[in-house]
Amino acid sequence: MNDTICAISTALGIGAISIVRTTGKDAIKIVNTIFKGKDLNKVNSHTIHYGYIIDKEEIIDEVLVSVMKAPKTFTVEDVVEINCHGGIATTNRVLELLLKNGCRMAEPGEFTKRAFLNGRINLMEAESVMDLISGKTDKARKMAINGLRGSTFDLIHNLRQEILEVIASIEVNIDYPEYKDIEEKTLKSIKESVDKIKIKLTKIVKDSENGKIIKEGIKTVILGRPNVGKSSILNRLLDEEKAIVTDIEGTTRDIVEGQINIDGILFDIIDTAGIRKTNDIIEKQGVEKSLSFIENANLIIMVLNNNEKLTPEDQELLEKIKNKRYILVINKSDLARKIQLSDSLEKEAIKIDTLNKEGILPLIEKIKDLFNMEKLENSDLNYISNARQIALLKQALEVIPSIYNGLEQELPIDMIEIDLKEIYNLLGDVNGESYSDEIIDQLFSQFCLGK
Ligand code: GDP
Repeated sequence: MNDTICAISTALGIGAISIVRTTGKDAIKIVNTIFKGKDLNKVNSHTIHYGYIIDKEEIIDEVLVSVMKAPKTFTVEDVVEINCHGGIATTNRVLELLLKNGCRMAEPGEFTKRAFLNGRINLMEAESVMDLISGKTDKARKMAINGLRGSTFDLIHNLRQEILEVIASIEVNIDYPEYKDIEEKTLKSIKESVDKIKIKLTKIVKDSENGKIIKEGIKTVILGRPNVGKSSILNRLLDEEKAIVTDIEGTTRDIVEGQINIDGILFDIIDTAGIRKTNDIIEKQGVEKSLSFIENANLIIMVLNNNEKLTPEDQELLEKIKNKRYILVINKSDLARKIQLSDSLEKEAIKIDTLNKEGILPLIEKIKDLFNMEKLENSDLNYISNARQIALLKQALEVIPSIYNGLEQELPIDMIEIDLKEIYNLLGDVNGESYSDEIIDQLFSQFCLGK
């Protein structure tokens, strides 16, 4: 942390400008040695200066240099940013010069890590920086900025405070065991407090599902026998909504994929190879792959053909998906009705005719309903979406039954305290109020260079 680091902070490529960033106690001094213009050692903080980057006599680039002095900077250390022209050769040369003059190449995430270690941001805010960079939709961006503003941190922090109060009241009891009536009162109030903690923790974990959906999107699989109209449905969905990426290739055996954005939620849609029993090795691989997609999908759009009787394969697929979140679609409703369904399936099915573009909007409405997207639209998006944090929250929730158990069996009060402390510590790992070096190293290494 004592050295001065540098990195190219913008994407490497050809653009109007690139930013090379340095931070550390010698940042201003080092940049000043390769800068021709004002003496940067003498300028005010948070000012921008025009000049040249030079290598001895040679002019490397015409630049603008921002000087930001500690402590009011991202890293809480001196920060200097060099705005160069955006060519790869120029940017690399500026970086090389900095390295030659005493900077060290930053590790991925090291700027943000310094911001964290110097107390400028907390761990959840740091993780939000990463989410902000990688967010693909506006909702994902909003959620990340909430994390960065610290509201998700407060959510966990306040819950920890509540737990701490219970722990404190237990400590009082342990210190004054002679007052029997205090202990009885405490047991009752512990139970009440644990009830409240449980409700809050459960809500945070449940809401994190929404967070994950917003961040990672919804893995959607279009399933059905060959020729029922899966590709046609995918294409219609892509037409109807803003398609971000469409990667449509190939033959009937291929897995075809597209991404759409429905009201700010990203749907990763996979049109599986037609599923049918087969002996053809290549096709078999396609079929097996399709079946594996069912396992990992968040949503299945199961397609049947209105113009054909239900086949044993249809029934097998319906059986396979029954415990998943799915929507049943009957396609080719422009053709004569031949399919026969049970009353319940008939009731839930959406009738579609992709040829004439009928029924696509109701399908989209049904998708929105299924994921409660109306509610997401109006919420404050204060969700936890980070996999590391969610895993710890679930672990904390699993400790709760042991507390109830202890209360029921009237175990010594300090046994209950142990469980509460465990939850308290796990939540501390979630928002970084307590953390280990290992977590920090692992977490920041996932960042991109220059951030
Ligand atoms: P997939 O194998 O399940 O992906 O099916 P496709 O989307 O390739 O469609 C198979 C055939 O059915 C094509 O010839 C489509 O033109 C036709 N088809 C798809 N949807 C409809 C529909 O709603 N009505 C009618 N009449 N034909 C359709």
